Amino acid sequence: MAIRGERMSELEQLERARKVDAYRLRFAAELEEEFRRSHRARYRYPRLALFAIGALGFGLAPLFLELLWLPRETIRPLLLPLAMGVVLPAVTLAGLLTATRRAPRLLVESAQSAGIVAFWGGVLLLRYFALRGEMNFPPEMLGVVVVAVSVFGGFDSRRVIPAALAFSALGIFLEVRYATSFAQGGSTILSLSYMGLIAVAGSYTHELLSRIAWATARYAYASARSDPLTGLPTRAEFNRLLPRVLAQAAREQRLVAVALLDVDHFKRINDTQGHLFGDQVLRRIGGVLQQIARRPLDLRARYGGEEFVLVWYDITPLEFEHQVSNLLYMIRETTLENPRLRQEIPLSASIGGIWLVPPPGQEAEPLLQDADQRLYEAKHAGRDCARLQAAEHYRPHEHVVRGEFGRR
Ligand code: GH3
Ligand code: MG
Ligand code: MG
Repeated sequence: MAIRGERMSELEQLERARKVDAYRLRFAAELEEEFRRSHRARYRYPRLALFAIGALGFGLAPLFLELLWLPRETIRPLLLPLAMGVVLPAVTLAGLLTATRRAPRLLVESAQSAGIVAFWGGVLLLRYFALRGEMNFPPEMLGVVVVAVSVFGGFDSRRVIPAALAFSALGIFLEVRYATSFAQGGSTILSLSYMGLIAVAGSYTHELLSRIAWATARYAYASARSDPLTGLPTRAEFNRLLPRVLAQAAREQRLVAVALLDVDHFKRINDTQGHLFGDQVLRRIGGVLQQIARRPLDLRARYGGEEFVLVWYDITPLEFEHQVSNLLYMIRETTLENPRLRQEIPLSASIGGIWLVPPPGQEAEPLLQDADQRLYEAKHAGRDCARLQAAEHYRPHEHVVRGEFGRR
C-alpha cells in the first residue's frame, strides 16, 4: 500500500504489473523494456520455427505445383516467381534475422513484419487464384496460417490482433466476392471467422499468461531481495553483497566501515502506539537510510526487525564519524505524530560501528559480530549514541581512533 506522495517501490510496481498492467498488455516503461527483452529471447526459437515452416511451405512450391496445385497455364508463370522470388526470400530473411542475436531490433522487427505480410499475402493470393478457378488451394490454409502466426509466434498482441483481423477479413472478402456456391463460400467464411477469433483470443491469452508469469517471477525475485516495508535490501541480499564489497576493498586496500543501527525502545513505541504506527516508524527510518551511504559500493539494508546495517566503502574514520552523527541527527529529527493521539513521538537509535582495511579472505560474520558488540555498548551507554572503533584484530598503520559521541 503506497502512501500518497511516495514513489512506488519496486515491489509495489511489480504487484501492479502482474495484477493490473498485464491485462492491458503494457507494463510501466522500464519494466516493459525488460519484459520485451526477455520475451524476445524466449521466443527466438518458436519464431524461428514458424518462419522455417513458412519457408519450407513456399520452398516446396515447385513440387506442390506439379502434384497438388495444378495451375492453369495462364497463371503458371506467375506462381513460381511469387513463391520462390518473393515469399520465400522474405520469410527466410525474417528467420535469419530472428536467429541473429546482435542484429538491430528495428531491423529484426521490420523483417519479421515483412515476413508475416509476405507469408499471409502469398496464401491469400493463392486462395484468390483458386477461387477464380485457376488452381487448387484449400481454404483451410488461411485459418492455419493466421492461428500459427498469432499464437505460436508470441508477437506483440497489440499489433498481431489488428493484423490477424485484417487478414481474416480479407479472406472472408475473397470468399464473398468469388465463391461459386453459397454453401461452399458460407462454410469457408464460417470456419475462417472462427479461426480469426481463435487467433485473436489465443494471441491475447498467450501474451497475458506470459506477462503474468514473467511479472510473478520478477516479483518473487525482488521480494527476496527487497524488504516490502522499507524498500531497503533484505538481509539475504545484504549477505550476498557484503562479501563482494569486502573482497573489492581487500583488493584495492580501501577502508570499509560497517554500522549496525537499532531503533531505541521500539517495543515501547509498538506497545503504546500500536504496530501499524511502529511500521510507519520503520518506513520513515528506511527513508532516512535511503539518503545515506549512496555511493556505488556502499550498502544499506534492513537487517531484521528494527535493526539496519550500513556499509561505507573507501571512507576515513573521520568521515565515518561524521556520517554516523549525521544519521543519528536525522533520526532524532524524524519525529512522527500519532494522528490518533495527536502526540509527537520522539525517535532515536543507537549505532555500533567498526572500520578496517580488510585482508584478503576477510569473512563478513566476525565484522558483524564486532559491530554488534559496539551496538551493545552504545545501548548500555544510554542509547541515542554511537560507538565506533577500528575492527578487533585490525591494526592500522595509523593510530586507532576511538569514537564515542552522540547524545546531546
Ligand atoms: P532497545 O532500545 O534496547 O533496542 O529496545 P527495543 O524495544 O527497541 O528492543 P526489542 O528488541 O526488545 O524490541 C524490538 C521490537 O521490534 C520487538 C518487535 O515486536 C518489534 N518489531 C520487529 N519487527 C517489526 C515490524 O516489522 N513492525 C513492527 N511494528 N514491529 C516490529
Ligand atoms: Mg533490536
Ligand atoms: Mg531496539
